[in-house]
Amino acid sequence: MVESKRAGRTGPESKAPKTRAPRKSKHVYWFAEGEADGDRSMGAVLGGKGANLAEMSRLGLPVPPGFTISTEVCVHYMRTGGEYPDGLRAEVEAALARLEKRMGKGYGDPARPLLVSVRSGARASMPGMMDTVLNLGLNDRTVAGLTAESGDERFALDAYRRFVQMYGDVVLGVRADGDDERDPFRAALERLEKKRRVKHDTALDRSDLEALVREFLKIVEKHTGAPFPQDPADQLWGAIGAVCASWNNERARSYRALNHISNDAGTAVTVQAMVFGNLGEESGTGVAFTRDPATGERRFYGEYLMNAQGEDVVAGLRTPLPIAELAARSPAAWKELERVQALLERHYRDMQDLEFTIEHGKLFMLQCRSGKRTGFAAVRIACDLVEEGAIDRDEALRRIEPEALAQLLQPVFDPRELARAADRRLTRGLEAGPGAATGKIVFGAARAVELAAQGERVVLVRIETSPEDIRGMQASEGILTARGGMTSHAALVARQMGRVCVAGASELQIDYARRRLRVNGQLFGEGDWISLDGTHGVVYSGEIATSPSEVMRALLGNNAAARRAADTPAFRAFSRVMEWADAVRTMGVRANADQPDQCKTSLALGAEGIGLCRTEHMFFGDAKLLAMREMILAADAAARERALAKLLPLQRKDFEGIFRAMGSRPVTIRTLDPPLHEFLPQDDETQRRLAEDLGLPLAKVRAKIEALHEQNPMLGHRGCRLGVVFPEITRMQARAVFEAACNVARKTDAAPHPEIMIPLVGTRAEFELQAAEVRAVAEQVFAEKGVTVPYHVGTMIEVPRAALLAGEIALGAEFFSFGTNDLTQTTYGISRDDSGGFVQRYLEKEIYPADPFATLDRDGVGRLMRWAVDEGRAARPDLQIGICGEHGGDPRSIHLCQELNLDYVSCSPYRVPIARLAAAQAAL
Ligand code: PEP
Ligand code: MG
Repeated sequence: MVESKRAGRTGPESKAPKTRAPRKSKHVYWFAEGEADGDRSMGAVLGGKGANLAEMSRLGLPVPPGFTISTEVCVHYMRTGGEYPDGLRAEVEAALARLEKRMGKGYGDPARPLLVSVRSGARASMPGMMDTVLNLGLNDRTVAGLTAESGDERFALDAYRRFVQMYGDVVLGVRADGDDERDPFRAALERLEKKRRVKHDTALDRSDLEALVREFLKIVEKHTGAPFPQDPADQLWGAIGAVCASWNNERARSYRALNHISNDAGTAVTVQAMVFGNLGEESGTGVAFTRDPATGERRFYGEYLMNAQGEDVVAGLRTPLPIAELAARSPAAWKELERVQALLERHYRDMQDLEFTIEHGKLFMLQCRSGKRTGFAAVRIACDLVEEGAIDRDEALRRIEPEALAQLLQPVFDPRELARAADRRLTRGLEAGPGAATGKIVFGAARAVELAAQGERVVLVRIETSPEDIRGMQASEGILTARGGMTSHAALVARQMGRVCVAGASELQIDYARRRLRVNGQLFGEGDWISLDGTHGVVYSGEIATSPSEVMRALLGNNAAARRAADTPAFRAFSRVMEWADAVRTMGVRANADQPDQCKTSLALGAEGIGLCRTEHMFFGDAKLLAMREMILAADAAARERALAKLLPLQRKDFEGIFRAMGSRPVTIRTLDPPLHEFLPQDDETQRRLAEDLGLPLAKVRAKIEALHEQNPMLGHRGCRLGVVFPEITRMQARAVFEAACNVARKTDAAPHPEIMIPLVGTRAEFELQAAEVRAVAEQVFAEKGVTVPYHVGTMIEVPRAALLAGEIALGAEFFSFGTNDLTQTTYGISRDDSGGFVQRYLEKEIYPADPFATLDRDGVGRLMRWAVDEGRAARPDLQIGICGEHGGDPRSIHLCQELNLDYVSCSPYRVPIARLAAAQAAL
């Protein structure tokens, strides 16, 4: 519970307006056109819907009167297992009496019956997740009164059958049990429609509806063993309780888990006088947005249905009509709706999502809230509102969810195609790399490279990936793995490359030998098409059309198509938002990149340097890999030096490419980190070829590979421990870096700025040994070349001991970079490559507020980081501190980095814009 509160503080809810504390005993808040107890600032008490109904009422808009029961009541109800706070009943009765007076009707009055709706509404918007009941107050007696009132018996009977159906489902739990059974109300309705040979319920006549009401009442009695509650007071309290309880239904709980919304808040319950959209052809109902929620274009956008109630629009039983057609259909209501939508947008200074009902040509507003929107719309609307003078730049920056920017950068599935592919959904995994990918299945990296070279689009399907697969990953549109978490190799490499990735899809059964994938009873072979939605972690069979994002085209291209893309509203808005973000943020933003082309992409996306160059990723060209393997298999130091001499020019060339791309910007280069066995082939065939290539007996190669096997390689001979045992590796890498830097400095105007970083340091002595090697090589190279470049030597902080002894380590290290992937792994004692299997369960059980490998654990890892920052800066006041773990691209983690006063965050290239915006928000 403590943890989920914390999640609430940092989650989307924290952006809601500040709340006034209510009087202790007040639970019920009145609203009616022109007056209201509450207002928009009271979202925590009245829920979003209640607060906005109060606000619209205050503005004098046509809102049917009613009252809202506070969220505190729901919390009490849940805590006590179904009891209400003292005094609530009296408050509700008083409010109901006031409503009766205002409407000139009586709740349960057979002559002039007042009907009400009971609606849910939490502080954080959770569209459609909780329950609502309409038409309360109807029974066998009041239905006659409604007939007399409306002069329309068909309408009254229709309202009654809808009420029995909705109340039966939501409050009494009369619904289909299991997949085989059908909703009994729906089935009865369809039977009758079939018998009458009509398509819609609107074509049923008075006597049909009368029969249907009788049948519905019988269905309830059969399922519950008791007659349908005829007493309107019982109906009301039954509905209030059901709406409170719907806070904890499964849908709502999983929605909250996905959106980092606290489970503690509870829903408010709004009781409101009914207005009817189903009173004939002069009545109707609809939903609308003040701007286009998909593109952000400034146009009134929405849908409506005449002679219908709200659920008809949502249920998709009848096809709604475009909102613009309402102008001809119901001119007075349209005119009023246009006035209201403009007024609401001006008032809230944001795009609004509206629900309305028209009763006999008169408009009533039932809801308004900030509308959900795509990333494209978020950016465009924020920019347009600044241009229109509605909000300032800071507010515009606050309004955009940083994560939403990913949508602007990734290729996208065509939405219509995606809808058509719904029945081809195969399975899910972790949303490890956002975007859309479609291609032919391949099971190996080499095959991926081969087919891609022939112009094929491929999706690499692996049980898990290893550094050996990098070129195959690069060649693929997307990567799908059966194992691994958010910081598994596949996930982080995919994000760095901007590849789409679904990781840890545990239902996949992959058979490498037969090149087969089995999932949920379906069988796929190499070359079969598959599609990945990396934004939502969903896997589809077959091909789904994608298109590249305009923003990427504009940023990276320099042809006519790029110029056209640069002239689109989406790109113009994106550029402006990025400019504004850069002006306010105080932390730097760098990229994790290890190839010249990744450096160029990073720069185009706004990176100010490289925060992590993982040198092991540079060893995977054929020539480099062979030399690397020769080095690892070397029998003695002399043989190792010979192999390293082959690697030196290859690695130097790579660094030259990086320095050329990066100019004088800082480039943090990490010495070799992974356990050496990762570079060696594990299969017989490749081992045989390797032995041949190196002229060694196969048995010897096998024995060496066997000898390098470790029980826990992530905690074994890796990181600086490699350089401690084999200092010649560190010396070769340092030489490659400094020779490259000097060569580039001599040939260009730029002065490359390498920062050599030692990984997995736990003691000062480890660091000092490695730093001494690096510094000695630097001096040698500068003397040999007659050129000097500025450089620094620092360390990663990625094991708890380094954090605890940061003060000591900082005496030698000139900079720190938090490797929070390993720091999380070692702080929790959870393997980052195996967390995928159980983290989801931990999230469901609220043991973790978020996946600690995706969002920094503030309480534990964060505390170690704070300690390291304080100790480090106390020892060396000008110590530069950054972060290069995957958390460096996560908005919530970036907020923590700002609190910790880090100098920069570093993340995969495609997350750079997200980090720039998140850093700006953190600074604001
Ligand atoms: C880390 O551990 O956070 C880090 C950046 O290093 P790697 O992911 O390469 O282990
Ligand atoms: Mg690490």
